[in-house]
Amino acid sequence: MTAAYWCGVFIDFIAFGIMTLQSFQLDLATVLLLHQCSFLVGALCFLYTRWQSKRGEGLGTLAIGFLSLAMSSTLAGLGERSVLSHEIWTFGTFVFGLIGYSVFWVGMRQLSSGRRRRIDWLVLVIPVVLIVVAFATRFYLVDAVRGAVSNFISFLSLAAATATVLHDRRPERLPVRVVLSCVIALSSLLALLIVVAMLTPAIAPMTPRWAFFIRIICHFAIALFVIILVKERAEAALRHAADTDMLTGVGNRRWFTSRMPKVMRADDALLLMDLDLFKQVNDRFGHDTGDQVLVSFADAISRNLNASGSFARLGGEEFAAYLPKTNALEAMKAAERLVDVVGKLEVDSNGQRVPLTVSIGVATSADAGGSWSDLLKMADAALYAAKDSGRNRAVLYDKIAA
Ligand code: GH3
Ligand code: MG
Ligand code: MG
Repeated sequence: MTAAYWCGVFIDFIAFGIMTLQSFQLDLATVLLLHQCSFLVGALCFLYTRWQSKRGEGLGTLAIGFLSLAMSSTLAGLGERSVLSHEIWTFGTFVFGLIGYSVFWVGMRQLSSGRRRRIDWLVLVIPVVLIVVAFATRFYLVDAVRGAVSNFISFLSLAAATATVLHDRRPERLPVRVVLSCVIALSSLLALLIVVAMLTPAIAPMTPRWAFFIRIICHFAIALFVIILVKERAEAALRHAADTDMLTGVGNRRWFTSRMPKVMRADDALLLMDLDLFKQVNDRFGHDTGDQVLVSFADAISRNLNASGSFARLGGEEFAAYLPKTNALEAMKAAERLVDVVGKLEVDSNGQRVPLTVSIGVATSADAGGSWSDLLKMADAALYAAKDSGRNRAVLYDKIAA
């Protein structure tokens, strides 16, 4: 079976789908019922996920947005069945629709950034102004105008929500962001298409009813991908916690070991660091100051290592830095600079400067012959030599061997 064969099958499948859809008659009552259900199911998903997850920013707001939209849809359905007067259902559906989409945007902002910003709620000024104008001019009684205005607001808020989800990809890379933003963008485009279809039906590529139907599927998909976003975020937080040293915020031994190549390449360097006489720091200044020293030390080393290096706390007051493509000479230069930086570090305890120095054992893969554990043993031997020869210095493994 060739790729061309499978392409043919796929095209046949799509063509069959389109033909089936074209022969399928959508009745308005069904579309309205499904439309209402899609918002209700979405709202329930948001509320359940909020109840279950620790970080549920935005989910409550999204639920309120979807419930408001469900209300708008319900009123339209009741109007369609002549249960409510034209005056009441048109105004009600317009108000709940506008509010719902604006609140949806606020909720998406909160969910996407993980923060609540009060200023976002100012967006409600837009629906409030439109509702006042509608009330004064009674334009909501004209179906085409009401439909066009509310769908245009829906288009704008969904387009803004798409931009928000994509924009926040930089601070927080979650794979689901792309899919979620595609679904919201599709719903946004369909809202625009409905505006076009309502104002100039002759040039619209599909009827508003079909656009509504596809949007219903989008609503279910939005709820699904929002839940996946919350789940991906929780998994990323767990992975981060498992790999991070809680005191200093740098990587821990588990993370560091996972970063090491299975086979060491030529000219990879390992710097093993141990704070000098740290027990005395604890004894003299207290454990809390000791902790503060560890944080300042980790921060200073992180700032002074180049970006390609990996730095971690292996345990206690022992740290390690892995420097790829660094020969013995360069590794020693880097280690000596770090010794210097630590010697100048200012950590204060009740107005007294805490004296601090570090010893560093340096080994490179040229010595280690390819194995990470050998490299670690050699760096450890070099560190021992640095301690033995008076501390506050860096020692290269080959100097001890000679
Ligand atoms: P040396 O120069 O030979 O390394 O002497 P040292 O005192 O640094 O070495 P030693 O291994 O005797 O002491 C390490 C101390 O580090 C003992 C322990 O209480 C302290 N320590 C380990 N983890 C922490 C921590 O998370 N916070 C604080 N404050 N102290 C810690
Ligand atoms: Mg130690
Ligand atoms: Mg020590």
